[in-house]
Amino acid sequence: MVSVKYEKIGCAYDDFIVVQDFDLEIPDGTITTLLGPSGCGKTTVLRALAGFVEPFEGKVFLGDKDITILPPQKRNTAMIFQNYALWPHLTIFKNVEYGLKMREPEELANLESPWYSKIYFFTKPYFWIRNLIKRKDKISYDDKRAEFDKKFEYRREKVLDVLSLVHLEDQASKLPTQLSGGQQQRIALCRAIVTQPDVLLCDEPLSNLDAKLRKEIRTEIRSIIKKIGMTAVYVTHDQEEALAISDRIAILHEGIIQQYGTPLEVFTDPATLFVAQFIGTSSTLVGKVVKPNVVELKGGEQINTQIKENIPNDTEVNLVVRPEHVSLTSETECQVEFVINTIEYLGTEVKMTGTLKDETILLLDVTEQPHEFAKMKVGDNVTAYVDPKEVFVFIGQERKY
Ligand code: ATP
Repeated sequence: MVSVKYEKIGCAYDDFIVVQDFDLEIPDGTITTLLGPSGCGKTTVLRALAGFVEPFEGKVFLGDKDITILPPQKRNTAMIFQNYALWPHLTIFKNVEYGLKMREPEELANLESPWYSKIYFFTKPYFWIRNLIKRKDKISYDDKRAEFDKKFEYRREKVLDVLSLVHLEDQASKLPTQLSGGQQQRIALCRAIVTQPDVLLCDEPLSNLDAKLRKEIRTEIRSIIKKIGMTAVYVTHDQEEALAISDRIAILHEGIIQQYGTPLEVFTDPATLFVAQFIGTSSTLVGKVVKPNVVELKGGEQINTQIKENIPNDTEVNLVVRPEHVSLTSETECQVEFVINTIEYLGTEVKMTGTLKDETILLLDVTEQPHEFAKMKVGDNVTAYVDPKEVFVFIGQERKY
């Protein structure tokens, strides 16, 4: 396990600067996600670690080693991509074995293969025909080869070991096109981890899969990475995926880290307005402070808040409210009137959107008595209550509570 450190790096494509003064420390053995909207620079930062992008300033460290200008093949990193990048003409076994052939671990380099192991594959037709005739007494070509070719034996053991992690060892002789997308991504993961890289880099690996499979595979990827105790850097723009898979999340906006913390921290304690709006779903209400801890919306409703410092009256603030903190039943002093725009009954909850007097859209999730509230209609006038303890207050991007 190895830690990663970006020290004030800057990356650019020609004159276009994507990140500058970028600092990030990734502890060993963690899964850290770079999360942000499209074009914010997450892939560029990942590629600087893989060696595909050379920073014009700053340094990148793997453990204590400065790898800033080291070519990609000399870094002990492995990457999985959105499009799997498997060799279509090679079997699953050979695809995974390929990683080991390209980057021989030390113990493999010390093993010997006799000269004739290179031409031994010419004997394959013999095994075919023999096994066709003697169906009850088959001899495997791979078993026979492993008897004298120690390198192959080592590789075979490693490949079957990682394939068994994803329960695909029985698919080893198939071609990638004979597997589903989810299975192909599992194979890509196997090919990456078989070489035991210092860091596993994942560039939006689940984007090509459907929503159900994405959830299934992200759980699997996390449990495998944790099982082998690897450091991983994961790139995604899907905040739910980031929350589910990561130990830590760095949220990027226009090349700048807005917040770096655990999933719980970034969700429950957003550092900036951008983070509060980007993570989870929320409504943003704009108003002015009218007295300590009271904000008046443009439509006249007054929302109580819990701002720690004294903000002068008339200061404009943004209030970010999550739908689960707006209630139709638990009455508080913060009442807002709205007209229902949409209403979705999901069995255990009702999701609604409504318009406030100042035309702001309010989202709310009704989890208490959902069957009752499901009977409401679009266009109904409703009173909702906002929980003052759960209102995030921002002046510009700066969090005040
Ligand atoms: P996405 O989620 O869409 O992949 P991202 O956050 O990973 O986005 P990057 O791919 O790092 O963003 O790109 C950051 C910026 O750099 C974008 O504005 C993009 O247009 C630009 N960019 C990326 N690759 C190149 C390139 N090879 N040449 C020129 N500009 C590039």
